[in-house]
Amino acid sequence: MRPRKVPLRKCVACQQMMPKKELIRVVKTPQDEVLIDLTGKKAGRGAYLCGKLSCFKLAQKSRALDRALKHQVQPEIYSQLEQDFIRVEDEFIANKERADDEDE
Ligand SMILES: [Zn+2]
Repeated sequence: MRPRKVPLRKCVACQQMMPKKELIRVVKTPQDEVLIDLTGKKAGRGAYLCGKLSCFKLAQKSRALDRALKHQVQPEIYSQLEQDFIRVEDEFIANKERADDEDE
């Protein structure tokens, strides 16, 4: 059997191509809010990051997230996002494990 085609996206921090469901989407909404979008369905310009805090920090340091979102993310937004990122990291990993089970 041919393997199913998995949609790939690139992490804006480490530039690695990953299956979409293994990346965390950060979205800039039409209201210019920057937030983490675990559903992957929010409207706006999105950027993808590996579900790793190290990649989030790298994206902040290199301003890769700003570039990907075409928006200057304010430092207080970054600290808010970092808190959210830490919080969703566990949830995200749990979801991923569940999703992997479904594939079998
Ligand atoms: Zn990454």
